[in-house]
Amino acid sequence: MHVILLGPPGAGKGTQAERIVAEHGLVHLSTGDLLRGAVEAQSELGKEAQGYMSKGELVPDRLVSALVAEKLKTLDEAQGFLLDGFPRNEGQASDLAGEPRGRDIDHVIHLRLDDDEIVRRLLLRGRDDDTEEVIRNRLGVYERETSPLVALYEGKGLLRPIDATGTIEEIAERIRKVLRPSDTGSSEGSAA
Ligand code: ADP
Repeated sequence: MHVILLGPPGAGKGTQAERIVAEHGLVHLSTGDLLRGAVEAQSELGKEAQGYMSKGELVPDRLVSALVAEKLKTLDEAQGFLLDGFPRNEGQASDLAGEPRGRDIDHVIHLRLDDDEIVRRLLLRGRDDDTEEVIRNRLGVYERETSPLVALYEGKGLLRPIDATGTIEEIAERIRKVLRPSDTGSSEGSAA
């Protein structure tokens, strides 16, 4: 099973991603986590990414898409994956579609949450890049760059809208219903 997790900052992508990968035996590919790892390690990529991240801007596609492509190549055929925070704009979506392993996406889980609740949650979380100014910028970037992907994946029949309000468990249950093998219509369930 190949899943994309889409949603604004603060919608709980990371939290739900951990549950989904545990329940379905998927590899978790979070570009936010990968980039933060690169920044911490002060690799060339990390040094270049750092400035964008601290401002809430997107890291350039060529860096992020290469990072994801490299990870996808390490997975064997039967290994399912969950992409968390990627793609984040139309350029990245087309880069993904150009990757052999990125073509057969089964579900795009779209976590939906309104702006007031997003800001409230992010201020509570208090990560380095969770100051009010940077949050506001990330929301603007999401609206401008990432939200067009909703229509893109809807057009492909892959979009699964999920109400991201309520408890972690309530949201997880909504996602679980969407990902039940009987609902996917795919034939790869026997691999498990
Ligand atoms: P959030 O969803 O709360 O914004 P993430 O961990 O997904 O948190 O992303 C944190 C930052 O990492 C983003 O603001 C951005 O700078 C960078 N980033 C993560 N994923 C991508 C991506 N696919 N393309 C460009 N930049 C990214």
